[in-house]
Amino acid sequence: MTQSSEPDLFEPFSSVELTKFRRALRRWYQRRARDLPWRRTGDPYRIWISEIMLQQTTVAAVVPYFERFLDRFPDVEELATAEEGDVLRLWEGLGYYSRARNIHRSARQLVEELNGVFPETVDELIKLPGIGRYTAGAIVSFAFDRPAPIVEANTLRLYSRLLALDENPRSTHGQRVLWAFAEHLLPRRSAGEFNQALMELGSQVCTPTEPECPKCPARSVCRAFAAGRQSEIPVAAPRQQITAIVEAAVAVRSGDQYLLRRNPEGQRWAGMWDFLRFPIEDADRHIPESGLDSTRPVPSRLARQLERTSQDMAGIEIRANRFLTELRHGVTRYRIRLQCFLAETDASANRMADGFQWVHPDAFSDYPLSVTGRKLARLLEAM
Ligand code: SF4
Repeated sequence: MTQSSEPDLFEPFSSVELTKFRRALRRWYQRRARDLPWRRTGDPYRIWISEIMLQQTTVAAVVPYFERFLDRFPDVEELATAEEGDVLRLWEGLGYYSRARNIHRSARQLVEELNGVFPETVDELIKLPGIGRYTAGAIVSFAFDRPAPIVEANTLRLYSRLLALDENPRSTHGQRVLWAFAEHLLPRRSAGEFNQALMELGSQVCTPTEPECPKCPARSVCRAFAAGRQSEIPVAAPRQQITAIVEAAVAVRSGDQYLLRRNPEGQRWAGMWDFLRFPIEDADRHIPESGLDSTRPVPSRLARQLERTSQDMAGIEIRANRFLTELRHGVTRYRIRLQCFLAETDASANRMADGFQWVHPDAFSDYPLSVTGRKLARLLEAM
């Protein structure tokens, strides 16, 4: 099949086929749609929050976060007046924290420049931080029922199979084809429900593995189904290289308080708080594959490195006393072995630069921490 021309590619979706498909999809959606909290509303604020949370995150994980977030910030005005730390605290555990910071910045922009009123066009919405073409299309179609195409993870897979797309759907050309196809499918009326139905179909029937083709309302127009190629499509993107790194998290104690540092702008987890955290140099030499022994003193060369780097970061002298535990986690393309240490300092708890705080374990819960930061905080709380 040649893909040099989009009209050829869309050929099975003639106006007659398209009308049939839209009707079948609508009937299916009205019977099978899940009852999700963000579907019970036409409020663009709620739709926006849910769509940002759902990026890179499953529905099941998002529901409790969405409900807590909306309880605390029921409208854009409440969100705009919040402290960034409070927004990040409610986001804690969802990851990709720039989403929360962008939501906060967008809320401020909406209130300051637009009186808290959401724009009703894609072109205006994508001027807000963190709102891309997909999110804008979702808000415009779900909240205002205006025709705006959408392509996200579920519809990307669905469209790729409907078209039997023989290329990486995330490539520049693949994206161009899919956005044009989304536009081609879109009805002029009830575009919001139609887009929701496409996403639901992608998520519930046209699943990544073992799609339920016999139950699918699109099977009469699906090229992948006709060719028996559902398992080959979408074409996989080139595998991302995973890099293994070893980092240290140093919990520095002064009396009964621990030092927390606010991650600066431009760094990983900006705006979140953390213990002193940095890569361990020559980790192969210092950290055995089986892990450090928490019953023995920290090896002296490693202790010196921890002390030197902590001094550079926080400007205080520490003694790296104990290895506590190793936490393994992944961030984007990195697989991290995080070595957690306890350290002591005689530094006065009053004299610290901006961006540092001495915090009693009882108050750890007031600070937004990364998932591993929270695990270490819980360990310290229990000590
Ligand atoms: Fe997906 Fe199968 Fe439906 Fe085609 S027929 S859209 S492959 S579930």
